[in-house]
Amino acid sequence: MPAVPLRQLLAQPEVSAFLRGIVARARYGNAYLFHGPAGVGKGTAAIAFARAALCERVPGAGATAEPSLFGATAPATPLDDACGECGSCLRAASLQHPDLKFLFPVSGPGDEKELDETIGETLQAWREDPLFTFQYEKAASIRLSLTRELQRELAYRPFEAARRVVVIRDCDRMREDQYSALLKSIEEPAATTTWVLTTSRAARVPPTIRSRCQRVRFAPLSEAVVAGFLGERAGVDAREARLLAALASGSLARALAMRGSDPARLRDEALAMLEPALRRDVPGLWKAAQGATRFGRAGRESLRRAIEFHELWLRDVLRARYGAPAEALVNRDHERRIRELATRLDAAEVRRRLLVLEEALRSIDGNVSPDLTLFSTLLRVAGERVGEGAWPAHAAQRSDV
Ligand SMILES: [Zn+2]
Repeated sequence: MPAVPLRQLLAQPEVSAFLRGIVARARYGNAYLFHGPAGVGKGTAAIAFARAALCERVPGAGATAEPSLFGATAPATPLDDACGECGSCLRAASLQHPDLKFLFPVSGPGDEKELDETIGETLQAWREDPLFTFQYEKAASIRLSLTRELQRELAYRPFEAARRVVVIRDCDRMREDQYSALLKSIEEPAATTTWVLTTSRAARVPPTIRSRCQRVRFAPLSEAVVAGFLGERAGVDAREARLLAALASGSLARALAMRGSDPARLRDEALAMLEPALRRDVPGLWKAAQGATRFGRAGRESLRRAIEFHELWLRDVLRARYGAPAEALVNRDHERRIRELATRLDAAEVRRRLLVLEEALRSIDGNVSPDLTLFSTLLRVAGERVGEGAWPAHAAQRSDV
């Protein structure tokens, strides 16, 4: 896992300053709710905050801290971040500090043993992969049995540090009974436990929980920040980094999860379908949409990706129409084609097509047949009225799927 200190949180200066202020004064609240867009570093910040709170050298670390070899002299300015060197910092960085506890969503019915295995595997992957990102199935949730188990431990004093930190990732994935169980713990003024809850869907967290937490808001990341991180820290080449950052719309976690998917190739395949639509070449469009099974029967995620590529492309065309320089284009490796389209299509026409794509993205989940969705969307991009007459016979036969 990335043992990032608070002072190096990616593009969250206000959050960083706020949390360091707490550490420097050793004035910990009962509970914090880290909220903001998905994939902007809330989980990383939660661990960074926990490490700092548990560090043996920060103010309020308590009598359990080992005396320094060089005498017990306090540093001239109080530490406001993890020192990164003490035993406590090292154990917390490898997620093995006995006073640092986690709850996160897991999926599957699973008995106790399976659950333990899943959690063990997740922790290990998190520990070993500095670019690990949590990815959940739709039904994943935080288990009540684990919440209860944790609460039994909270009855005892912290093992090593002066305090204990409990991090609950994606706390919006809880059931009603879990929230009530949690509420009791958060309410108790146990000065030794600090709760850090993270969520990208704060509205789903019950007001009873929200109102008992200090809220810490995370800002969205710009595409430039995401692309920069991918290039510098994840070894992704510039063209791919740009595409990933644009596709991930500010979610570093999402961009990281898409690494290695060869977005430039996927983009080119998606474009092979968009181009006949822009030429209003309906037979060509049907052929392209059929040939690209990846976006057809392969499912909704691929379809979503294809349409997102279409949007990025048309936004570039708009930018080019308004005279944007090459650096401002996401698909700048195809600058010539974009500029050529920009001279051919007028802005209103491009905007109309973007709206069609937006609408298609919103309706993807409700549609039964991704390949027909793609075809009908592109017909509308081409400016064709979508009706029986516009459909090739074999497509019309499948429309009752
Ligand atoms: Zn330390």
